[in-house]
Amino acid sequence: MSEKPAILGGPKAVPDGSIRNWPPVDETDRRMVMASLEGSNHAFGPNCIAFQDEFAAWNGNRHALTTNSGTAALHMALVACDCGTGDEVITTAYSWSSSATCIMQHNCIPVFVDIDFDTMNIAPDRIEAAISDRTRAIIVVHLHGLPVDMDKVMDIARRRGLKVIEDCCQAHGARFKGRKVGTIGHCAAFSFNQNKCLSAGEGGMFVTDNDEMVEKANSLRSFGETRKPSENRDYHVYAMGWMYRNSDLAAAFGRAQLTKLDHYLAIQKENARRMSDCLAGTPALILPTAPEGFEHNWYNYTIRFDMAALGCADEPRSFRDKLVRAMQAEGVQTGVWQSFILPEMTVFQARNGYGKGCPWSCPHARPVDYSPELFPESQRHCDSHTGMTTPLRCPNGAREVELTASGIRKVMENADQIS
Ligand SMILES: *Cc1c(COP(=O)(O)O)cnc(C)c1O
Repeated sequence: MSEKPAILGGPKAVPDGSIRNWPPVDETDRRMVMASLEGSNHAFGPNCIAFQDEFAAWNGNRHALTTNSGTAALHMALVACDCGTGDEVITTAYSWSSSATCIMQHNCIPVFVDIDFDTMNIAPDRIEAAISDRTRAIIVVHLHGLPVDMDKVMDIARRRGLKVIEDCCQAHGARFKGRKVGTIGHCAAFSFNQNKCLSAGEGGMFVTDNDEMVEKANSLRSFGETRKPSENRDYHVYAMGWMYRNSDLAAAFGRAQLTKLDHYLAIQKENARRMSDCLAGTPALILPTAPEGFEHNWYNYTIRFDMAALGCADEPRSFRDKLVRAMQAEGVQTGVWQSFILPEMTVFQARNGYGKGCPWSCPHARPVDYSPELFPESQRHCDSHTGMTTPLRCPNGAREVELTASGIRKVMENADQIS
């Protein structure tokens, strides 16, 4: 029998200060960021150009454009795929909000597809039923770092004449059948936000192998101009554009972190393997897995509670919240990643777009159904999960993982006392 849970007055499994912060910052970061600061171009400067080249080489893409966020890169991807007014774009019902709201940026309509409970990713076998004569593209999200089955998605896209955008914001370095994510679809978006596997504070990257797509994305990035920020500009606006460029300081930080990314990812994978070993056999816990040929990067190690085994399948949310609070009391850095499935969010339920019902009321649009009941697997996952990032990230290692696992195990072994 394990010790008394901390939430009931027992000792904490993870002593304060045990888990170190992400990302680690060392001399390389200091040197490169200071060099940028002492340079003369703090806007789209030499570090931005070098970051693009180095990231393209690291991931294996012909083109890369650095942006101020992953969300901006997603918006650029939609425009690169010629998505516009009235077009429908398919995405997963469970992700970060901007995997869906990016679709509305160019007046397109999001169409949601339920997930596979086991992988937490869009269910490829449910995609075809969501395709209409308006569908132009599919956004796949490699959620928490597990690749989507890209063979199935690319097969559908080829047969139905659709573009495929990979949302790789959580999936740096993940591979599907040996191929890096971001090289399989038509174009892709990465994020360099603080909490991502490559952190530059904020930032993002649009990648593609297609010459026309990179031009369209580049124009949107910089005011709708067609010249690159590094070229002589003619200050003429050819199409609608935003200002999505990255800054030199953030790019310098990103470049420094990129030199260490493979090392960080190797540690993260080792930590995830150890976490699964430590948690194996814990009562009422469903551990994350990766099918054969799917190489997870373990951005987020997400566990699910077996609510039927815990006897609360009818009221999963409140019990999930109690278990998570008990784990947090142990010092386990875990949380509820998303409390709502995407279609359930007010922006979609109330059709809160540009006002006056746009883009859904546009005469070019077709009605779509956002009833939450249509996405039962997403809901079941959403209500029964908790996930963690920092305890599995470098510089944390075996000791931090073992402490974290012991806190999770203690709570689950005493679950009957926590209700
Ligand atoms: C973080 C994230 C984004 C957005 O990235 P930002 O850089 O924060 O704009 C998009 N999609 C997914 C799946 C993400 O996790």
